[in-house]
Amino acid sequence: MVGKKPGRKPFGREGPPKGYPKNQSLYADPENWRYPLHTPWHAKAARRYFNDWPNRSKYTEDERAYIDWRINQAIEKFQTSTTQTKPIRSKLADKKPEELSLEELLELFLGPARLKRADEIGDSLVSIIEVGTHEIFGKVKEYTVKIDAKNRRILHDCQDWRNNLDSKRMCKHLGKFILTMNRKTAADLMADVLRNKDQWRFVAPETNSSGIATS
Ligand SMILES: [Zn+2]
Repeated sequence: MVGKKPGRKPFGREGPPKGYPKNQSLYADPENWRYPLHTPWHAKAARRYFNDWPNRSKYTEDERAYIDWRINQAIEKFQTSTTQTKPIRSKLADKKPEELSLEELLELFLGPARLKRADEIGDSLVSIIEVGTHEIFGKVKEYTVKIDAKNRRILHDCQDWRNNLDSKRMCKHLGKFILTMNRKTAADLMADVLRNKDQWRFVAPETNSSGIATS
């Protein structure tokens, strides 16, 4: 600790200002609920205000040293965490599956460009034909989609899907199909696919010699 923590002052607040943290340790002058430091913006604002002599002069030299030290600590802490911030894509991947929205989950599997194309497929081109307890079966354009949540298996038959079976990337048809499903079911499904990616199998029907799907 640097300097001396200020005691209660006549100009101090009785408690946290409205909408501000109720935790005293988040203020540079905790006893007086002054100079909140809970966000990078507030820490910088605290620095600005406390640089002004009319504000500084309300405290003794030791107390000023303490408040300066607290503010600087907060600013440093936020600077470290910002420099460590990763690009948005990988930040998404760092989140827990249950913290992600359906669109974010889909973006992880489709990428932003495919997700946009998925969204552009007309609703009338999608039909969900059968919904069982664990199985959902339907069509997107002329393609088949069969999701078996119990056995963690997705069957689909477009070329893009076939090309990306190994990397478990999803195609725009699957994206659209999942966007058409009940949102809660879809989000739970996608979170499970993300959480248990290794157990999920992405499959395509066998093709016969003419290249046409037989199942
Ligand atoms: Zn497809």
